[in-house]
Amino acid sequence: MTYRRSLARTGLFAAAYLAATVTGRLTVLPGSDMSMVWPAAGVGVVWFCAQRKAPLRWLDVAALAVITMVVNMATGATAAVAALFVVTNLVQIGTFLALIDRWWPTLWTAGPRPMRGPRDLWALLGAAFGATVAGAVIGPTSIWLLTGRHSWPATVVWLARNTASILLIGSAGLYAAHLLARYRARHGTLRSWWRGCRATLAATPRRRAAEYSALTVCSLAAYLTGFSYTGSLPIAFTLIAVTVWAATRLATPFVVAHDLLVGLIAIGFTLYGSGPFATIADFTTRAFVAQLFVVIVAVVGMALATGRDERTALIAELAAEKDLLRAIFDSTADGLAVIDADNRVVLRNPAAVRLLGGFTKPGDKVAGSAHYGVFDLDGSPVPDDRMVHARALAGEDVPPTDLLIRNPAVPEGRIITARAATLVGQDGRRSAVVLIHDVTAERRQRDELASFAGVVAHDLLNPVTAVQGFAEIAAESVARMPGHPAAAEAEDALLRVSRAADRMRSLIDGLLANTTARDATVAAVPVDLGAIVSEVTVARLDAAIGAGQPAPRFTVGDLPPVQADPVLLRQLLDNLIGNAVKYTAKDVIPALTVTATVCDGLVRVCVADNGIGIPAGQHDEIFGDFHRAHRTAGYAGTGLGLGICKRIVERHGGTITASDNPGGGSRFVFTVPAAQTAQDREPAPDSAQLR
Ligand code: ADP
Repeated sequence: MTYRRSLARTGLFAAAYLAATVTGRLTVLPGSDMSMVWPAAGVGVVWFCAQRKAPLRWLDVAALAVITMVVNMATGATAAVAALFVVTNLVQIGTFLALIDRWWPTLWTAGPRPMRGPRDLWALLGAAFGATVAGAVIGPTSIWLLTGRHSWPATVVWLARNTASILLIGSAGLYAAHLLARYRARHGTLRSWWRGCRATLAATPRRRAAEYSALTVCSLAAYLTGFSYTGSLPIAFTLIAVTVWAATRLATPFVVAHDLLVGLIAIGFTLYGSGPFATIADFTTRAFVAQLFVVIVAVVGMALATGRDERTALIAELAAEKDLLRAIFDSTADGLAVIDADNRVVLRNPAAVRLLGGFTKPGDKVAGSAHYGVFDLDGSPVPDDRMVHARALAGEDVPPTDLLIRNPAVPEGRIITARAATLVGQDGRRSAVVLIHDVTAERRQRDELASFAGVVAHDLLNPVTAVQGFAEIAAESVARMPGHPAAAEAEDALLRVSRAADRMRSLIDGLLANTTARDATVAAVPVDLGAIVSEVTVARLDAAIGAGQPAPRFTVGDLPPVQADPVLLRQLLDNLIGNAVKYTAKDVIPALTVTATVCDGLVRVCVADNGIGIPAGQHDEIFGDFHRAHRTAGYAGTGLGLGICKRIVERHGGTITASDNPGGGSRFVFTVPAAQTAQDREPAPDSAQLR
């Protein structure tokens, strides 16, 4: 704020304060030194609120002090009493500023702003009352100390009149400042501001303008009539009706102005001995009742109006949020639907309709799976009660499920991942939230990549076989040339070629096994687990003996039959047992234990060893493709074996974990379904469901 502007404001407010003080002093109650109204209290807080950032605030303090001194002394107060009023007024204003800062801190954050709701009104009322109490403690008490006169009724009038004054003039000042700032921001000069006001008036719909006029006329008529009345009936309460009318229908600034106007009429008439309060004989009581009336009318009006404003703002905020949510909901590429317990679609976004090929059911009721063409990936239709929403409504936990959608709108088929969650409403009724994600492109890409890897791996085997074959022939030729100076070097080079080709072959074998583990159809049949374990262990014993290594020791427990694909199961056990033998310290004879238990239709198989163990924190990572935990320890490998094991187990609907063997080494535990008896097989889902 510039000095010029600050000075201009000081001058303006000082003039208003002077007028308010003189007016107040003209209303001194007969037989006392107490004014019936004290508009200067309200003008004072507005003045210091407006000037709270002024560079010359001391000038405002000085102006207020001078005016208070001069007016009070000119109207008969002693210099001491006048000085006391200066202190009282300054304390009152200071308390108001401190309290409003505390209770309504956002008042100043974005320029002068109107009340956002009743909360702000209570803050203003509280600050007004608190400031008045502070003033009343100093004012009447000091007068008593100075003059020896003290009147409790006068103190009560002081409280009521100053609170009314700060509340009414303070809120009017707030709205005036807000409107002024708004119009100045829009129109710049005072002249164009006035033009803006007129334009706003002209833009107000006629019916609205008529209501404003009607209310103004009715209010004037009611108050002028009511306060011209000199009978003894307490008719003042009926006048609150016009305030309620204004507060429930018209703009809040108008309500504040209305409160101010009717308050002025009420006080003015009472002051001149007219109206329902004039019948109260005691002047102090009369003044108190009139002020109380004004405060109540103002609070009722502003509470109703700000409550309505708050509600309107909240509704607008909610509507904006709803629009935003709707826009997000409608624009998302994933399908989303909410289905209630009666199978009725409560909510559905356009993507949900599109992903199902636009096959929506009239009446918004979910139809059977045949209507939408919902199939399992093996082509079997999904039974109605196994649709994801039906499972969620039945309280089932539905994990992401791949489904095929094929109907006349999507003849080529679309693969979706559908998941559903159960929502329980406040009335306890369930509904299902279904999320649909189109994975057709992803799955196609993955399959193409997998078959490409398979083909490449297969084709690579031929050249590797050729390299191995020719390396062997070359080695034999070199062996036939003893004594040749380059023979030793050539032998060494050929050995390296041969080892590299072996590594290459095992990598390609791993890649092929990987593709097989993912792609081959699982043909689950009852398998003798014990026989497979024995085949694998015998092969391992033979290999160890053939390589001149110490024979591993196997302890095999009772192994129940399982329901699995024998080829994949063999591969799984071969990988686990092979690793257990491989990852053993050089000077230790491998000792393995293979045991199994049956629980809830699942066989839990445990392969434990006395090997080097798995480094801490890598027990899950080792199941990832190409992850090797002992990379630098000199053990050959590709890091694919356990990834293949995991895939095989998962395709049988089981799980696999690795942990430390309590006696040292590692322990791998996997589950597969127990073998089905003929009795089990009757109602069981066909084996093709295992994927
Ligand atoms: P690799 O071809 O390296 O053996 P795997 O996928 O079979 O690949 O195993 C991944 C890693 O897990 C291995 O590199 C090894 O560090 C660790 N591992 C597997 N089995 C065992 C075991 N029985 N004992 C200790 N570590 C093991």
